[in-house]
Amino acid sequence: MANPLYDTLFGQHAGRDTVFLHLPDGSTLTHDAFLRMTARFAHQIVRSGLQPGDRLAVQIAKSPRALAVYAACAQTGVIFLPLNTAYTPAEVAYFLENSGARLFLCDGNDAEALAPVSGKAGTRQETLNADGSGSFADLSAGHPESFDTVARDHDDLAAFLYTSGTTGRSKGAMLTQGNLLSNAQVLTDYWRFSADDVLLHALPIFHTHGLFVATNICLASGAQMMFYPAFDAETVVRDMPRATVMMGVPTFYTRLLDRDDFTAEVAGNMRLFISGSAPLLAETHREFEARTGHRILERYGMTETNMNTSNPYDGDRRAGTVGYPLPGVELRVCDEAGNELPQGEIGTIEVRGPNVFKGYWQMPEKTAEELRDNGFFITGDLGFVDADGYVTIVGRGKDLIISGGYNIYPKEIELVLDEAQGVLESAVIGVPHPDFGETPVGVLARRPGQEPDTDAIMASLHDALARFKHPRKLVVVDSLPRNTMGKVQKNVLRDAYQGLFT
Ligand code: ATP
Ligand code: MG
Repeated sequence: MANPLYDTLFGQHAGRDTVFLHLPDGSTLTHDAFLRMTARFAHQIVRSGLQPGDRLAVQIAKSPRALAVYAACAQTGVIFLPLNTAYTPAEVAYFLENSGARLFLCDGNDAEALAPVSGKAGTRQETLNADGSGSFADLSAGHPESFDTVARDHDDLAAFLYTSGTTGRSKGAMLTQGNLLSNAQVLTDYWRFSADDVLLHALPIFHTHGLFVATNICLASGAQMMFYPAFDAETVVRDMPRATVMMGVPTFYTRLLDRDDFTAEVAGNMRLFISGSAPLLAETHREFEARTGHRILERYGMTETNMNTSNPYDGDRRAGTVGYPLPGVELRVCDEAGNELPQGEIGTIEVRGPNVFKGYWQMPEKTAEELRDNGFFITGDLGFVDADGYVTIVGRGKDLIISGGYNIYPKEIELVLDEAQGVLESAVIGVPHPDFGETPVGVLARRPGQEPDTDAIMASLHDALARFKHPRKLVVVDSLPRNTMGKVQKNVLRDAYQGLFT
């Protein structure tokens, strides 16, 4: 094939009048119209002087045009680099300079603030707005609606996706055509996607979940997408009867459950609900099933690897687990030295397969630390595999607490705290302690209108947890700090409470 990613996901739909996107204003966009827009953009990318392998960065609102830029990058062999729309100009500066992007597309409203940043990085800046206006759109307007797809190979780079920055500075993961394509094909089969599906798409498209998992699967299978600028529970409840699948982060599910008008009837046309990007509480899983009759399918992945594991489509979808390694993905649980641990023991999860990235852009040391010579990627997540082969994530290695020489896994304590009266959710962190090195502190987010009784909760821990695991202190807050992907930022909590005992 001349260009595996473009041909398989996009090119196969050329000339088809089938619906690709349902838009919030009630209009639809066909595959053919989408590909004609893609071709115009591809011509403009080439005219802007970009060669295959050059980077094109975007920080633009979610829209069909933003997806067409991704498609045009695939068609021209240019590396697509989407940026979180919440990043400030100072943050964007890091990404432009780090990636050496040649072209940067931003929103017209931000153009003035970003111009000095692009200028400093030596990146050409154009605008592309959600409504279709902007200098890049104007320049593309007269171009031909077909484009000779540039030949590429499975090993050629298709995208730089920066990690969410939950544990430190975001790293640019280099993803090849083969990485993206293999995962899209495996997931299409595993989750049984077909051209009959309509995916409710309310995720951002600068992150692997909404961009590669959701969009690539729909393109591979010919499924349609109901494409929303953001998640709005009221709109989702209104439109769900026309959808068949939803992919969401756990907060989508809790926000739906908060609404009385989210009922089994509303979910009546749905065949599948998928969750990922952060741990789904077992309680949410149970409540969702009680309300709708659907068992949410939880899967586990990351920027560097796309998806690694998934609960089964037909078999038992187990709450609190992330299911089995996907076909083609090898998963092992190891100690720090990379020795595989006996089944059932907790260690670092490592994965190998066609989904695993090529390394971090211009970070050879970081790449060497995390990508073993034998191809296994050290995910940094801690977990275990049970006797049935289900994988459970117990937290991130960086969140592990070592107190007085004992390993304490925050998840184990959080599961107990989450059940306590008045507690919506909890996060357990390690903070410096003069005697123990580190000691656990429990941060409790209160249920609206309720006040957790910390003394009573502390007393109740004696039955559930060994003494060394008891949090030395419980703190009650309104809500846990989260980043834009809904991930709890434990580093923020650690900074806030680091002085409690020292
Ligand atoms: P950074 O690497 O910059 O610190 P990040 O790891 O949060 O940020 P992402 O690649 O967006 O960036 O997220 C991947 C991580 O999300 C995984 O390593 C894992 O910790 C977490 N994750 C994803 N899905 C799940 C899940 N179903 N259950 C628990 N954790 C999950
Ligand atoms: Mg990470």
